[in-house]
Amino acid sequence: MNRRAILRWLKEDHEDRLAALWQEADAVRQKTVGDAVHLRGLIEISNGCDRNCAYCGIRAGNRNLTRYRMSEAEILICARQAVAYGYGTVVLQSGEDLGMSREWIAKIIRSIKAATALAVTLSLGERSEADLKAWREAGADRYLLKFETSDRALYDRIHPPVRGRRSDRFALLKKLRELGYEVGSGVMVGIPGQTYASLARDLELFQELDLDMIGVGPFLPHPAAPLGRNPKKFLAPAPRQVPNSEEMTCKVVALARLLCPETNLPSTTALATLSPERGREMGLLRGANVVMPDLTPLEYRALYEIYPGKGGTGESTEAFHRRLWDQIEALGRTVGIGPGRRLNLTLGV
Ligand code: SAH
Repeated sequence: MNRRAILRWLKEDHEDRLAALWQEADAVRQKTVGDAVHLRGLIEISNGCDRNCAYCGIRAGNRNLTRYRMSEAEILICARQAVAYGYGTVVLQSGEDLGMSREWIAKIIRSIKAATALAVTLSLGERSEADLKAWREAGADRYLLKFETSDRALYDRIHPPVRGRRSDRFALLKKLRELGYEVGSGVMVGIPGQTYASLARDLELFQELDLDMIGVGPFLPHPAAPLGRNPKKFLAPAPRQVPNSEEMTCKVVALARLLCPETNLPSTTALATLSPERGREMGLLRGANVVMPDLTPLEYRALYEIYPGKGGTGESTEAFHRRLWDQIEALGRTVGIGPGRRLNLTLGV
């Protein structure tokens, strides 16, 4: 599929043709990664952040937020909970909190690896090559770093540099690959200023980067962030601006599945937050094969508010787990067993 075809799908609004897209994405999903829905337990280990991303609620500039950093013991309890629920992976996510030292994170990775058979995914933002190398050596399996948008001017507007360093997430993704990580990336859909043309390029890049995981969620405005406070100021002219809707997010999920048939593709929490009634199912029916249940203790979860509603409804981890299990079975799917590595069908492994 070339960029023009991608662009045509992004602008498609005919219901019957869209139904064919959903169906094709679901068929490819079934043929490649199968019916298993892999669950990745998310542990939001710190909401400390040194950056000032214009979209994000936990940006350094938000002074009205109580900051926390979980202890190693607390993180280990969550990892054991992941095992108890039968999950094969934990994802350690945080703001870009440089107070978390290389050695501290390495020690946590080693402890999880010693105590469990879990795959460990990191999503800790832009860190030095030495950090990334040490964590890989400590046993981390995967790293998630969304490039957010391929439009360089838009990226610079929403993701200001710190410490005088221009942020280059593509260079980091390459480094991660060289270090032997499974590499995940992705974008937000409907960022004010995001055009259809740039989103089509994002999708092409998913394929060029041969991503092992692709996270796609709608942009959700947060009142403590400039893009949330005043989105109109940033919007592209109406015909070019991508909406941050459920349908547009599903189109990107479906196209990502068609372009990267073997990738692991979550139905994201952001989509479920935008569309509480049916967002999660829609993602799973239109190409996704992964869900990331939140294992963060409720008192911290409420403080990890990257967008409104991220903290959840106060539903317990246990209740969510049971509801999700039922949802997956009601769709005729199964809950994945084991770490759920990215398949490589061409290599036959
Ligand atoms: N700090 C790390 C990881 C945590 S943020 C990093 O920057 O990589 C994880 C993801 O949440 C981001 O990549 C972004 O895509 C998403 N996110 C942040 N703010 C958001 C918002 N307002 N709406 C939707 N998604 C958001």
